[in-house]
Amino acid sequence: MITRTSISVQAVTTATWPEQLRDAIRDPQLLLKTLGLDSSLLPGATQGHALFSIRVPHAYLARIRHGDPDDPLLRQVLPIGAETDAIEGFVTDPLAEAEHTPRPGLIHKYHNRVLLIGSGACAINCRYCFRRHFPYGDNLPSKAQWQDILDYIRSDSNIIEAILSGGDPLASSDKRLAWLADELASITHLKRLRVHTRLPVVIPERVDSHLLAWLSRSRLQKIMVLHINHANEIDEAVRTACQRLKEAGVTLFNQSVILRGVNDSVPALAALSEALFEAGILPYYLHAFDPVAGAAHFDVGDDEAIALVDALRAELPGFLMPRLVREIPGENSKTPLF
Ligand SMILES: *Cc1c(COP(=O)(O)O)cnc(C)c1O
Ligand code: SF4
Repeated sequence: MITRTSISVQAVTTATWPEQLRDAIRDPQLLLKTLGLDSSLLPGATQGHALFSIRVPHAYLARIRHGDPDDPLLRQVLPIGAETDAIEGFVTDPLAEAEHTPRPGLIHKYHNRVLLIGSGACAINCRYCFRRHFPYGDNLPSKAQWQDILDYIRSDSNIIEAILSGGDPLASSDKRLAWLADELASITHLKRLRVHTRLPVVIPERVDSHLLAWLSRSRLQKIMVLHINHANEIDEAVRTACQRLKEAGVTLFNQSVILRGVNDSVPALAALSEALFEAGILPYYLHAFDPVAGAAHFDVGDDEAIALVDALRAELPGFLMPRLVREIPGENSKTPLF
């Protein structure tokens, strides 16, 4: 009995991350069925799916409560009919990133750090994503374009930090990432390599020996900014992945987005900060909602967000307080709201 149980557990946990990516749920009907949800949700899910497709890996699905349409993780991945509503002020490029793209795949908005679009793919499709309309097809660098990007960084000694973003940069192969990380490390004025990723949360098995190998050998200081919006996203596997990253010399932070129906309460935000710290992650930014078309139903509004964060102070030590910010096009940093 005991032997059989341990074999089946082993079989579940040893699916590699590319297998888990490949096997992610991408169909509205299958998503509802797997979670025991009512088929009345299907028309809305299908409409939203047509605009921005569903993608939910099983490791994330396992953290969603069965049969609960209000689950805070489900709301991040299940499309609803409201995504088709056109609402004034909610636009396709809320951060005006197209204006700050000196090379395809490179966004240079803040003078001493650059953001590289390392991959157009994501392990999960988050309904509120401000890049849900991003033209990745036009921005994914070819090998020659990568050289161009590296030359751009090499020629500007003000740049001390390279940020791999996406999409999710860790959706790329370790072979490509190792090449890029090594090239970046050869640029002498760079001090830090930062990775903005949701993959270690969505598929914790992404943190494998191949990833840890190129990260730990880099001379650059390594920072990973994870993206977790709710305490329920952090399970044992996520904690283990974080532990491995820390052992490889990576400093861990988290950014969240304040989302209606997901984390728009003081208890939810306090529980998130506590769970992050237990996993060895410090809260960094809490992003005010960016007005992206198709996701207006997640918008909490600045006044309510400020009131929530004000009340949160009474619940948390200062080092667990996220900074409530918005990215305002044209500003030279994120703008604190509070
Ligand atoms: C958010 C962002 C950064 C990083 O900002 P930090 O305040 O350093 O976290 C860098 N470049 C771009 C284009 C960004 O949007
Ligand atoms: S993982 Fe990040 S970039 Fe990808 S859909 Fe989610 S929020 Fe957007």
